Amino acid sequence: MGRQRGTGIGGGNDEREQTLNQLLTEMDGFEGNTGIIVIAATNRPDVLDTALLRPGRFDRQVIVDYPDLKGRKGILEVHARNKKLATDISLEAIARRTPGFTGADLANLLNEAAILTARRRKEAMTMAEVNDAIDRVVAGMEGTPLIDSKNKRLIAYHEVGHAIVGTVLKDHDPVQKVTLIPRGQAKGLTWFTPDEDQGLVTRNQILARITATLGGRAAEEEVFGDSEVTTGASSDLQKVTSSLGKW
Ligand code: ZN
Repeated sequence: MGRQRGTGIGGGNDEREQTLNQLLTEMDGFEGNTGIIVIAATNRPDVLDTALLRPGRFDRQVIVDYPDLKGRKGILEVHARNKKLATDISLEAIARRTPGFTGADLANLLNEAAILTARRRKEAMTMAEVNDAIDRVVAGMEGTPLIDSKNKRLIAYHEVGHAIVGTVLKDHDPVQKVTLIPRGQAKGLTWFTPDEDQGLVTRNQILARITATLGGRAAEEEVFGDSEVTTGASSDLQKVTSSLGKW
């Protein structure tokens, strides 16, 4: 409703514009009152009518960004209130594992963990359920385990390649775990402990990420030979060529 007026959409006389005009008039009426604060939220601040943002109206903007570590811990505390937690649960540790999660993601995460807890017939939620829920939220549903085969061996070496290279490079995030249980699109996964909300990434860190991402394919070549490499590294190759901007 607060969209810029006079853009021609719906004609200059449409009901939305009338309502906005009325709202602007009413808001000026607040001037004489103290102790009244009007709050509004939008995810399109770019299309707002400039008259809405004039002093005396919505003249103060608070940008709600992704929560940082402290914010995530606070959000987790709120959503953990109505859940039974085992003593091994550390909200701090969960917050540390979830950079980039929004408040809704964190609420969803604890709900998933609660469902897992019930399904496993446990009295209280433990770190095991939370960790499984994080894996599920980040990488997708758990698939059926791979049968023993050449394929499985190859995937195992591929993932270990990522893990070893990631471990020996000092600028790389530490390895958290390596798994051969398929999730989402991935047949195997190497999890790294993400660094806390870093704003700036150094050249060395980017190089380390590129190197570790290519470590999977390198391990395949090392163990099975040049002619046996597979399409398994295709998403790694895509990642190093196209998503550098995201790093
Ligand atoms: Zn890979």
